[in-house]
Amino acid sequence: MLSLSPNELETLSQRLGADRYRGRQLAVWLFKKDVYDLDAMSDLPREFRSRLAEEAFIGIPEVERITPSQDGSQKFVLRLADGARIQSVLMPDRDRLTLCLSPQVGCGFACAFCLTGTMGLDRNLTAGEIVGQLAAVRGALGPETRVTHLVFMGMGEPLANYEATVRALRLFTHPDAFGYSPRRITVSTVGLVSAIQKLAREDLKVNLAISLHATTNAVRGKLMPVNRGWPLESLLAACRQFPLPVRRRMTFEYVLLDGVNDSPEDALRLTRLLKGIRAKVNLIPFNDWQDSGFRRPPPPRILAFQALLLEHGIIATIRWSKGEDIGAACGQLKEPRRTEAVSA
Ligand code: SF4
Repeated sequence: MLSLSPNELETLSQRLGADRYRGRQLAVWLFKKDVYDLDAMSDLPREFRSRLAEEAFIGIPEVERITPSQDGSQKFVLRLADGARIQSVLMPDRDRLTLCLSPQVGCGFACAFCLTGTMGLDRNLTAGEIVGQLAAVRGALGPETRVTHLVFMGMGEPLANYEATVRALRLFTHPDAFGYSPRRITVSTVGLVSAIQKLAREDLKVNLAISLHATTNAVRGKLMPVNRGWPLESLLAACRQFPLPVRRRMTFEYVLLDGVNDSPEDALRLTRLLKGIRAKVNLIPFNDWQDSGFRRPPPPRILAFQALLLEHGIIATIRWSKGEDIGAACGQLKEPRRTEAVSA
């Protein structure tokens, strides 16, 4: 039921023989009060609740483990109904509490610097499972703590699971569902051009982040196989056409890899590539993992890269990733696929 909009819950109620307004009441329990136990929905008639229990299913991922990091972030390992595991990461930052959501189990895009990419794709999540991550984390946090921002930057590629991602985005932003402002939601993509073009027509007004990570097709093609299908020229053309709401910028993620993409020439090329786009660049010093084959550049090189961007009028921040000590930083998310894999 978590994947149904308030309107669809009304239709479901009607189909089960109740008045439509029962669907609205159901939406309040599910999306506003975080109550998923039908027996606790005290204003719904008993008979309707029994019909719901027979016909519908509220699937909240089970919180299997919460690992706190020294920097305040927390990694939630969530188990889905079929035993698959995903991770959602909660990241506090001043007055913000951001939840990083996973749209897929594993990932099929095989970016060379990303541990998740070594898993391969297991399956797409349903919209209910994507939304269920927020529900599970809210349940664990309790009513006093509010998740203020959502980012699709966990395991997998949201635009490769397009329909479920868009349905989840509509639920997150629907005033009678979770009611988040689209300004507080960011979808991060590896650069699937046709899906970016489709998203542009959805009128969702959420933020878009592009995983760029290189300034030439030769380097990007080695780091990100997706570049062979959607090279930089077509990706940046789609970015230029993407309807950005006023006073908003598109984010470009750029993981800094020592000796690969961190030269002053790269920084200058990046300024040229982003010309004409209201852009900001998030520099992410590489988060190491065993046998990755990459290294984080030394701090002076990272700072010099940022300085060159700033000199050329590009807003550039360095994201010293959160959760690095618990394997929850960008590109570090990996889980054994099923319960059996852990106990073996
Ligand atoms: S960076 Fe994103 S798209 Fe690339 S392999 Fe990792 S999870 Fe997949």
